[in-house]
Amino acid sequence: MDYQKIIERIAEDVSPLLDKGEVASYIPALAGVSPSKFGIAVATVRGECFTTGDASECFSIQSLSKVFTLAMVMDRIGDALWERVGREASGNPFNSLVQLEYEHGRPRNPFINAGALVVTDCIILENHDPMRDLRGFVRTCAGNNTIGYDESVALSEKETGHRNAALAHFLKSYGNLYNDPGRVLDVYYHQCSLSMSCKDLARAFLFLANGGTDPVNGNIVCGLRQAKRINALMQTCGLYDEGGEFAFRVGLPGKSGVGGGIVAVMPGELSIAVWSPGLNTAGNSLAGFKALELFTTYTSKSIF
Ligand code: GLN
Repeated sequence: MDYQKIIERIAEDVSPLLDKGEVASYIPALAGVSPSKFGIAVATVRGECFTTGDASECFSIQSLSKVFTLAMVMDRIGDALWERVGREASGNPFNSLVQLEYEHGRPRNPFINAGALVVTDCIILENHDPMRDLRGFVRTCAGNNTIGYDESVALSEKETGHRNAALAHFLKSYGNLYNDPGRVLDVYYHQCSLSMSCKDLARAFLFLANGGTDPVNGNIVCGLRQAKRINALMQTCGLYDEGGEFAFRVGLPGKSGVGGGIVAVMPGELSIAVWSPGLNTAGNSLAGFKALELFTTYTSKSIF
């Protein structure tokens, strides 16, 4: 399969869509990112990497970080996590508050913001220096020691993140946050501000295409069982209220972020990261979504 040729064709195909989405301006530091940016990287379990466009440029990974924090927590605390967070699609926007009250403070899944805040609470309980340990985990997965946080993005979100603050306090009122909400929010904003390229992300998600083990260096990131479960959660909950649409049009487990990144995994074969900052109304990259749809169309790949 000539992945290089395929991704170059996709980059051309989606170019008319680049100015159609809206950059996530609710986080002021992200509002200035150029909507014309576009990159794709494919990393295979055989160790190959194919890239096109702005695949080496770093961007704010935002909710893609929720996959890393979940992988760290699932391996450390195992099934105890599921007492505090569910694993059912929410059918609601990522930052919705309503469901949390109906369901007595137990978030539907670890990928909506409320669920991710619970996971971050666990990270704080389990790690002496959570931000350093998370950065170390991500660097190891990506094989890149230069990955870091963008302080200006974290600060910008802290200043404007009233909805996340509401969610954190709401969780606390139900006894489902053990740490101080302000502390949890600080770590959460930092994880969202990690700055990575498509190349880093495709490489970093490769363990999920290979049963939990990094196929390039043999490092065991998580167990096979956890890898299968993370993929299942990405399949059902990774694109918020567009999970069904993503399964229908793309057919791979995936995770999106409001920085415009989407990463998808074809178990046993590859991971693919796309970046285009213009978002659709559900907060998912408009051109990135289309690019992944074209990828599975042109390659005839799907988990189904
Ligand atoms: N930091 C963002 C927020 O909490 C992440 C959301 C996302 O990427 N979907 O609003």
